[in-house]
Amino acid sequence: MENVKRDELVGQAIAWNHSLGAIDSFVLKCAVETGIPEVIHGHGRPITLSQLGASLPTPCTNLDVLRRIMRYLVHMQLFTVQNEGSDEREESYGSTSATKFILINEEKSIVPLFKLQMHEKCLAAWHTLGSCMQGKAGMSAFERMHGESLWAYASKHPDLNGIFNNAMAGGARSVVPAMIDGYGEVFQGLTSLVDIGGGIGTNLQSIAKAFPHIKCTVLDLPHVVETAPSCPEVEFVAGNMFSFIPKADAVMLMWVLHNWGDEDCVKILKRCKDAIDAKSGKVIVVDIIIGVDDLQELEHVRLATDMIMLAKTGGKERNEKEWRRLLSDAGFNQCKITPIKALQSVIEARP
Ligand code: SAH
Repeated sequence: MENVKRDELVGQAIAWNHSLGAIDSFVLKCAVETGIPEVIHGHGRPITLSQLGASLPTPCTNLDVLRRIMRYLVHMQLFTVQNEGSDEREESYGSTSATKFILINEEKSIVPLFKLQMHEKCLAAWHTLGSCMQGKAGMSAFERMHGESLWAYASKHPDLNGIFNNAMAGGARSVVPAMIDGYGEVFQGLTSLVDIGGGIGTNLQSIAKAFPHIKCTVLDLPHVVETAPSCPEVEFVAGNMFSFIPKADAVMLMWVLHNWGDEDCVKILKRCKDAIDAKSGKVIVVDIIIGVDDLQELEHVRLATDMIMLAKTGGKERNEKEWRRLLSDAGFNQCKITPIKALQSVIEARP
């Protein structure tokens, strides 16, 4: 094919593919809801189409539909296929390196976060993304559509509150081990740690297990703390980080500052500064840094998360320069960045 025509076709395909991007999410939703990953992964070796259909929690009575859904999921690299198109042997499906992450009960599963993204109120907010370019900075598409912030809405709607808190707990189960593995030294020598916006305490439960001598406290909004499972190693404080932060050797902000604009972040960080010792205290920020490494697949997720911040919270993802400026504006003059095997990096900041 002539180069010009080929370029035109490639351009057309790029545009088509982006226009159809939502389909990937909905086919994944269908796979998760029908239990396809559990059956294929649990089988331990490739499973035939008819065995798969019969083993689903609600057995499949239309194998042609299942075959077509599986063909798309294989194309999405979530499963492998053998004997596709063979006249003699039935096709069978196996796992890829991505499969375990879409299992509901796997430790590092993305399913809890995915359920939040697919919640109807969260999906609806995307329709007003463009309106974020006008009006009040920091007002999310969610707030524009539903008339109140995600946190205010969640405080009145237990279903979304539960889905949100589980989603964050799911994220924590994946990042905290990476943090302890990749930069456990950050907790060395601490006797007390407060996790600001620490959700239902999943982060601190793992940290308290690994470092039992640290007194661990979560500060989060009342409607979040109320639903936290009881955990003897972690103390819960219901409050507002803009008005009060308990004193400690160190305070941690994991996936918190990206929910806020620069002005609010400086306010939060100044409160953190008041809560720690001016000489020995530190703030541990665990958040995304745009461009921190050259892993293209992860970079796409980081940039997409920035869009999620526009849509859901009114916050933003930041690059290294923006993080350093933000921390210095709040009076943190020393700042050490450590990438870990996760979406987020660890930023250790001292006054
Ligand atoms: N750190 C957790 C949760 C991050 S989500 C994790 O990594 O899994 C952000 C958290 O900030 C939510 O739990 C939310 O309830 C909390 N939050 C939002 N506004 C807050 C405020 N004003 N004071 C305290 N916590 C707040």
